[in-house]
Amino acid sequence: MIKGSCLCGKVQFQITGEPHSLSYCHCSRCRKAAGVFSAVLIGKGDDLSITEGHDDIAKFVPDSEWKLERCFCKNCGTSLGDMATGDIYVVAASALDDEPKIRPTLHIHTASKPDWYDIVDDLKKFEGDYLPEK
Ligand SMILES: [Zn+2]
Ligand SMILES: [Zn+2]
Repeated sequence: MIKGSCLCGKVQFQITGEPHSLSYCHCSRCRKAAGVFSAVLIGKGDDLSITEGHDDIAKFVPDSEWKLERCFCKNCGTSLGDMATGDIYVVAASALDDEPKIRPTLHIHTASKPDWYDIVDDLKKFEGDYLPEK
């Protein structure tokens, strides 16, 4: 089990099972909300549960075709990712308290990255989203 929480501790969540991936997302939403980019942990929707602070989670839903919710703690502003439990969860790895036992393998949405930020590692880069082959 992997536990996570917001900065003030009101929101607590846990993840069971193995995450699918850990990626660095450079989309404009992550840039604005999380600071340059965010590390996103992705896994099966059913594996995520909010254990405390349901009512402390605020949601921003972008007015675009990509309806990922941007969740954050109402009290401390910690970026939590998309906490909706649909087919997949997309959790901000920065909110994890436990070691996810997985390392980042990809940069995604690099087309939205600001020019002043240079990626200096050798991980694979995708200008848009990356959809794993089934
Ligand atoms: Zn908080
Ligand atoms: Zn993003």
